[in-house]
Amino acid sequence: MENCIYCPKCDRSIPKDEMEERSKILREVFGNKSLEERKCPVCGTTMIDMDEVSKHRNKGD
Ligand SMILES: [Zn+2]
Repeated sequence: MENCIYCPKCDRSIPKDEMEERSKILREVFGNKSLEERKCPVCGTTMIDMDEVSKHRNKGD
């Protein structure tokens, strides 16, 4: 799950590589800016940056 953002509510992750493309499609087709604000386009929950999570985990070791 590295290099992804994750919605804990929907249990879905989106690869960061696809973020730009997906947020562009969402904005242009649906007028939805959720992903640009790193929010889940489905439920609006702020998505978690999995890289940040693993960084914190490593720090704790
Ligand atoms: Zn969600």
